[in-house]
Order: sequence, then structure tokens, then C-alpha cells
Amino acid sequence: MRKKGKDCVKLRGEKKLCEAMDAIQAIRGTRDILPSEVGYWQKIEQLAARILSQAGYEEIRPPIFEATSLFARGIGEATDVVGKEMYSFTDKSDRHLTLRPEGTASVVRAYIENKLYVESGVQRLWYAGPMFRYERPQAGRQRQFHQIGVELLGSGDPRADVEAIALATEILQNLGLKSLQLDINSVGNPEDRTSYRQALVNYLTPYKNELDKDSQERLSRNPLRILDSKEKKTQAIAQNAPSILDYLGEKSLQHFEKVQQLLTALGIKYTINPRLVRGLDYYTHTAFEIQAADLGAQATVCGGGRYDRLVQQLGGPETPAIGWAMGMERLILLLQKLEKPPIKAPDFYLVSRGETAATMALVLASSLRQLGFQVELDLSGSAFAKQLKRADRSKTVATLVLGEEEVSNKTVQLKWMASGKQQVIETSKLLAMTAELRSEIKQHQLG
Ligand code: ATP
Ligand code: MG
Repeated sequence: MRKKGKDCVKLRGEKKLCEAMDAIQAIRGTRDILPSEVGYWQKIEQLAARILSQAGYEEIRPPIFEATSLFARGIGEATDVVGKEMYSFTDKSDRHLTLRPEGTASVVRAYIENKLYVESGVQRLWYAGPMFRYERPQAGRQRQFHQIGVELLGSGDPRADVEAIALATEILQNLGLKSLQLDINSVGNPEDRTSYRQALVNYLTPYKNELDKDSQERLSRNPLRILDSKEKKTQAIAQNAPSILDYLGEKSLQHFEKVQQLLTALGIKYTINPRLVRGLDYYTHTAFEIQAADLGAQATVCGGGRYDRLVQQLGGPETPAIGWAMGMERLILLLQKLEKPPIKAPDFYLVSRGETAATMALVLASSLRQLGFQVELDLSGSAFAKQLKRADRSKTVATLVLGEEEVSNKTVQLKWMASGKQQVIETSKLLAMTAELRSEIKQHQLG
């Protein structure tokens, strides 16, 4: 049932405006990430940050909205992302702005604008944050979703491709994810693609009326995208289309073969998928995706590729580059099947009775936190028994009890929850035995 409420707004210089309205809800395609779930998010973010920084990647945080032309020029006008999915608007000064649908164009803009290429020949960058696409929401597909991504700028070496791919697989493996499949392909350089494009159009034209509507349009504008279609019938037709790999020039072939060799040297299994072209226009040479078997229709958890022409196209110096992005929501769907969300139980839960004890508990909690302990203070003001029940529910390692007797003796009752062991300690002594407390807490957590 939808809640009815009254909403009042007072604008400057106007009468207070109240109107009955439905309780405001989150916008379709967006979600709250609640405390019960946020442990998964933090786990992935921390793991990715560690693995990426070990490999010399530095975090970059570009703004969430940019000039619409950045995406139109960067990603390509004929792509779904730009053509159909962007959240674009004009601000009060009539600027054309867009909530970023992906990270690469912004990172490249920042790279050029801040002349990061001057600092070092190779720049290794990563980012994490929300992206926005107007799509049909379903499991693993939202309108505000989150990505972690990397961009490795300044190297055209196949080792760069493989470094990037290896980092993605390392993150996924460290999360404990299984049944993943890495698909790779080469989309060559623009010259290779021109000859392939013609062959593809020749093959597809007789089937034109059987293709889905979008694909029919793409036949003249952007035929490679047809291979990326999610429509069953179009996919079936595309199955027998000529392979782009037969149209690669010698240099492109060499690059692709080297990438395969290096993946093998690292023990990374892959499948060559000549129909993998990816949804964005800026890719050259290597394109790859990592799919998870247990995700149903939204199976791709990571996608990326090389984009050697993008920096120049956006007004920077000629700079080869490769990058990828992972979808956080899809990773979390997978993690949820594997494990419970990590919970943060307190080391100490403080309960008290009476005014003076309540003040002392507040002070003690603060002192313990300064010593580095995780401490939760009962603020309910309810009876002792109820507070103790809550301590139990909090899964705390130990409970500290302050009653009238403890106040007058300047002591505190310490109860270890797992063993039930209790002791009465002088408050000043408790604060002086940090090392013992820490090791006791560790033992209890392990036990
Ligand atoms: P898809 O084919 O699933 O639409 P895509 O090719 O549009 O994916 P990319 O632009 O390559 O996706 O983005 C990289 C990753 O970001 C995807 O593999 C996916 O995990 C995630 N992602 C993309 N769009 C969404 C979305 N709308 N909701 C949730 N995750 C998404
Ligand atoms: Mg998409």
C-alpha cells in the first residue's frame, strides 16, 4: 500500500504550500543501498582498491555530469548509450549536460584537460561510482547503477591489454566468484573494420526484414552493432555472419595473437568470440567480456577493450589505451549467492542504569573508541533486562554493565558473551589493559 502524507513547501516570500500527496519514492530504476547490504559493497570496493593500487593504478574522481557533446563525440552518436539511454538536460544557463552513462569518456577528458600525459608516458587510473542509463530496469539492470573501472593510457603494447584483463580476473577470483567465462575478440583498426563492414552488410541485407527494428536501422548506420543485438532472431542470423577475424590486417592479427599468447602465459583461460563487438564505438583491437554463468540474462559482469583513437578524437595527443568496467550490482547479485553480508559486531556493548551511570557509560564508550575499539552504547533508556537482550542481539564480543554499585565503586562489570565469563574491574584499570582486551576479543572472535 502506498502511504499518504502531507507535503509542505515554503518558498521564499510565498505562503506555505501544503498539499496531500503520495509518499515520495525512489525513482524507477534506482535503489537504496541499505546498511544490511552495504557490507558487500565495501568488501568489493576495498578489494578492488587494494589489487589495483598494488599494480600502480591511482584513483581518479571525475564529476558525475559532463557536457553532452563529450559522450556524443566519445561514445558515438549511433550507439544505444548515446542514442537512447542518456539522462540529458539543460541547466539554468542552457548548457547541454548529461549524467555520465559510463566512465571512460570522463576519464579521457580529465586526462587531456589536466595534461596527465605530461607527467608520465603511461597513466594507470581507476574509478568507482554511479552511472546513469535510461534502460528497462530488471534484475542486474538499473537506471542508476555503479561501476568500478580502470583505464591504462599511453601503451599500445599487448602486455597492457593483458595486464588490464588479468586485473579484472584477479578481482573476480579474489571475491570467490566461480563459473566465469572470459570472451575475447579483436575489432581491428578502423581500416580493417571498413572492409569487414561491407562484407557484413552484404551478408545481412537479404535478411533485412527478419532483423529487429533497431538492427534494420543499424544496417546502414552502424552494422557492427547488429552483432551486439539482444534479440533472439537477430542473434540467430548473426551466428552465420562473416567473422571480423577474417578481415584483420597483419598488424591487427599480430596484436591479437600476442594477447592470446600472453593470456596463456598467465594461465588465464579464454574463448575467442568473433561476434563480440561491444556497445560503444570507440573500441579498437582487443575487446573482451567476462560473463557469469549464474546471472541469467544480465550475465556480463565486466566489459572492456582497447580504444587507441579516443584520446585523439577528444582533442588530446595520439595515445593508445585500454580499459574495462565492472557492474557492481551484478557482482553483488553473485556475492549474495555465496555468502552472508559481512557484519560489523561491536567489541563492547555498554548498558547502564541511572543518570550517573548513563553519563559514565557515555564517557567510557568514548574512551574505548579512542583506544581503537568498536563500541556501541545503549541509548534506549529501558530496563536493564531489555538492554542486555539488545546487547545479545548486537552479537557483541563483550558487554560492559554500569549500575549504581559500579558507579559508587568506580568499577564496571565485564561480561564475555561467548563464554559467559564475568569479572568486575576498576574503570581506570580496564582502560589500561588495552593489549589484554584486544587479544581476548580476538580469541572470542575466532572461537
Ligand atoms: P549490457 O550488454 O548488459 O547492456 P553494456 O555492454 O551496455 O552491458 P558496458 O557499457 O560495457 O555494458 O558496462 C560495463 C558493465 O557495467 C557491464 O558489463 C555491466 O556489468 C554493467 N552495466 C552496464 N549497464 C548496466 C545497467 N544498466 N545496470 C547495471 N549494470 C550495468
Ligand atoms: Mg547496455
